[in-house]
Amino acid sequence: MIKYVAGICRHYLKGHTRVFIMILSISTLLITSAGCSSLNDSNEIIGNNTTTNQSKESDTQGIIDQQNDNNSSIIKETKNNQEVILDSSSKDIEGIKEGSSSENTNDGILIDYTTIQPNEAGDIPIVMFHKFTDKYPEGNKDEYLITLEDFEGLLNELYVKKFRLVSMQDFINNEIELSAGYSPVVFTFDDGVSSQFSLVSHEGELQVNPETAVAIMLEFNKKHPDFGLEGTFYIEMGKGESTFAGDGSLNERFDKLINLGFEIGNHTWSHLSLATKNISEAIIKEQLGRNQLEFSKIYDGYKMSSLALPYGEISKNEGIMAQLFEGEYNGVKYENRAVMAVGWCPSVVPWNKKYNSGYVNRVRATSMIPADYDISWWLNNKDFMSRRFVSDGNKSTVVVPEDVMEMVDLERLGDKRLITYKRQ
Ligand SMILES: [Zn+2]
Repeated sequence: MIKYVAGICRHYLKGHTRVFIMILSISTLLITSAGCSSLNDSNEIIGNNTTTNQSKESDTQGIIDQQNDNNSSIIKETKNNQEVILDSSSKDIEGIKEGSSSENTNDGILIDYTTIQPNEAGDIPIVMFHKFTDKYPEGNKDEYLITLEDFEGLLNELYVKKFRLVSMQDFINNEIELSAGYSPVVFTFDDGVSSQFSLVSHEGELQVNPETAVAIMLEFNKKHPDFGLEGTFYIEMGKGESTFAGDGSLNERFDKLINLGFEIGNHTWSHLSLATKNISEAIIKEQLGRNQLEFSKIYDGYKMSSLALPYGEISKNEGIMAQLFEGEYNGVKYENRAVMAVGWCPSVVPWNKKYNSGYVNRVRATSMIPADYDISWWLNNKDFMSRRFVSDGNKSTVVVPEDVMEMVDLERLGDKRLITYKRQ
């Protein structure tokens, strides 16, 4: 069994290529697909066991428990301490067909959970991309390099397996809106490299370079508009003009990317490891605030709202690390509502008790040589596929199988209503 995972992460730092080798020894933990959930434990915020009974005591949270019994559904609705049992025969039950819109699943219209099997406490892959190429170099050992062809293949695989892109904002804000039966996937791109996105001048007009990941996504979106067009690019402004190197000014590059609907996130000013010895509050404020400040000078009015940790590293000094979430540098405030790690596990959903906004797991993209725990590995992992997030198609409800109910932190549901059902 595997007792450790080794990841080799190649990054750009101040114009030099630096190879960073991360070896995580996990002597007591066997990394299996189930172990990924356990990995979250190191950063978890675990409350006491929350039971359905506790939930029923809430005045603000309604719970619907749908059970399938001899082909007739019994709907138990609990709201404001009152339980109402509705026989399915007294109410229309509408089965949701594949791809039907969420408008059809508003309150009052019930979907057949045993067919759709929604699990809105399930895991979500946040994929981490770095560099793209048209062809792998001979003897390629860079695990963070993917060809545009393989990238397109990944888009296809995700699409066929009923994953749809959601933005980082919607993930963080608990606003995932997908049709019933579909699963979210989030894309992230680190380091602002030109193979992710760049512009070329064509007959006096700036266009997206066709040899980039964004161009592949735009083409894919034309064929499959329902896949979505979302992604967050984590940049370090200390790189200056080499960010998304190509034609156009920095402002024109960001303008194009943001107008296409993509998001910009903070990756520190100079790609500094936050596990650096003697790191201080002042250094963190400069790394995050200066990046926001310089970005604001180029693209006014845009606030980055999430951070990707360079090398996935973080200091053990929690007092200092509190500065990751908000701070100020030279009069400019920054705020990060989620901090992305470098990793190998899909993330839990933000209302899962194990969610830690200070260390959100990401899955690396597949490269030339498929590796355990890359995104393709997960998409072919039965355990993950059975516990992935599956939408019920209704944004006002959170539907979970009874057996994962205890993972839901009711306080994080906001005004969404929790519904449980028995898995078949
Ligand atoms: Zn990086």
